[in-house]
This record gives sequence, structure tokens and C-alpha cells, in this order.
Amino acid sequence: MKKIVDGIYYIGLSGCQVYLIDTMAENGLVLIDCGMDIDMIMDISDEGFDPKQINHCIITHCHIDHIEACYHLKELNPDVKFYAHEADAQAIEEQGHDQQTAASWYGTKYNPVKLYKKFTKEIETLNLGDLELRIIHTPGHTPGSISVLVEKAGKKILFGQDIHGPFYESFGSNLNEYQNSMQRLLDLEPDILCEGHFGIIKPADEVKRYIKNYMDSNKP
Ligand SMILES: [Zn+2]
Repeated sequence: MKKIVDGIYYIGLSGCQVYLIDTMAENGLVLIDCGMDIDMIMDISDEGFDPKQINHCIITHCHIDHIEACYHLKELNPDVKFYAHEADAQAIEEQGHDQQTAASWYGTKYNPVKLYKKFTKEIETLNLGDLELRIIHTPGHTPGSISVLVEKAGKKILFGQDIHGPFYESFGSNLNEYQNSMQRLLDLEPDILCEGHFGIIKPADEVKRYIKNYMDSNKP
């Protein structure tokens, strides 16, 4: 586990990179994606956090490497609330979407979870305690991919997750939408990018370079 800024942490890699936000209020802890291994999440107790206090989990998209452990998180805390965009909701809430979730690639079976909230707008705000999370619909990698922007400690922190792709028909990928989505992320001028597989990218110039690089190599 590694601190990014006060209250925001990188937990580790299990399928995808999993991040933790401490609302420092009764809302408890927020996960950005769940990854594949609940044991890795349990290890936050080594740093003095109670995994049972994870009350919210924002799912950036429906891929198995981001959602497999959701079911176990729910076992740990039956009150945990899951959030995702409605365009990826079916694959998260139902069994049998193994192409869309990529579970067939990973040779694993996905145990679905129900969403507490489905995002439907281009941008919406989720307030948890004093924390304001901006949820940005960024289709491209999947139709329901979202990015999350948090301003904390004077920095704009962007949880962009699978900015790098990949892009496949079976995912419902769309490179035109991807280009628009990435431009919207650039327009936010983030200082720190927390990516789904490539870790933490900073400062702002590096974030810009990282996103532009993937835009250039994934033209329609
Ligand atoms: Zn993905």
C-alpha cells in the first residue's frame, strides 16, 4: 500500500490496480475498482484500515480483472454499495456476459453483484462526506467506461483506469468515442493519473503525454 496524497492510496495490483479513498467521515472507505483478489484488499488492515469499512466501490468498467473480487467484498460487508455506468451494468449484474467481461479470456467464472447506482450522464457528482467525486463517462474501451476525478491536497487526481485499452469488438470498444473521451480527460488538466494497469503517472505534463501517446496509437 502506498500513499498518493493524504487520504488517497494505491493498494496494489490484482488483475488491475486498486485504489482506496478515505472519506475520513461516516461514509468510510471507497474503492476504485476491486481487482481479483480479496486477500490483497484485506491487507489494508496492516495499515490500520478496517476492510469492513469499505462502504463504496466505484467500478470503472465491466472487465473481470476490475470486478471479480466484488462478490467477496459484498460477503465481507453486505452493505457495500457498488456504482457503475448503466452501459456496462448488465455485464456486472448478470451472469453469462463472459465475452463482455473478458471472463472467458481469464478462464474464470464471474459471480455478479447488484449495483446501488447506475450512472447515466456525461458527468455527474457523487458526494461522500466532504469528498466530491466527479464521475465522467469515458466510453471507448467499453461502452460504460467511466473515469473519476477527485480534487485533494491541491491536486486533481484522475482515476482513468484502462486508458491504454485494449480495444476489441467483443468489448464493444469504439475508437471514435475513445478519442473524444480522452480529449475530455485532457481538458480536465489532471495532476496525477491513477491508471488501471500502469500505476501512478505524474506530474501534469507526464499525464498529458501518457494520454496523448495512447490517443496517437489508437486512432479510428
Ligand atoms: Zn478493461
